[in-house]
Amino acid sequence: MKTAIYPGSFDPVTAGHLDIIRRAAGLCDRLIVAVLHNQAKKPAFSPEERCDMLRRAVDGVPNVEVRMFSGLLADYAKQLGAETIIKGLRAVSDFEYEFQMALANRKLNPHLDTVFLMTSAEYMYLSSSIVKDIAAHGGDITGLVPDSIQDDILLRIRKEGNTWQR
Ligand code: ADP
Repeated sequence: MKTAIYPGSFDPVTAGHLDIIRRAAGLCDRLIVAVLHNQAKKPAFSPEERCDMLRRAVDGVPNVEVRMFSGLLADYAKQLGAETIIKGLRAVSDFEYEFQMALANRKLNPHLDTVFLMTSAEYMYLSSSIVKDIAAHGGDITGLVPDSIQDDILLRIRKEGNTWQR
């Protein structure tokens, strides 16, 4: 694989995301972690904050770049010359939607394939929403997110509470 894209909201990046990033980076020459800027959603962290946290989390992983995008992923992939989308799968419940997206992206851009990486067993339950819920209720998020961003999450969520929309 030459250039691959790993898209997501990353609101915020979790240890599960970082695991997929590290494994995907080993499979391609260049991995672009693409942070979706979706006007319709109200995330806990702005796109800039999410990119900044991701950059700190992937510091030291060679061949990984973090960028922000909006609009159609198939168009963005074409623009970057990427021929592979990376997705993580946690459970069967992720599959149906991801299968539909993979086929839609291939219809829009026939040169684009989606490669699914299975979650590592220890991160199977982990999502950005779970992290925010635990933090909002005063729980310990150590090990659930990269160490370098743990304080950013605690500060924001404990100050503002559950203000995001899923
Ligand atoms: P969320 O983490 O809230 O489900 P994202 O849009 O940020 O949502 O996820 C981006 C990508 O990362 C998706 O392909 C998702 O399936 C994958 N992913 C998220 N959490 C994990 C995890 N714990 N293990 C493997 N893949 C994951």
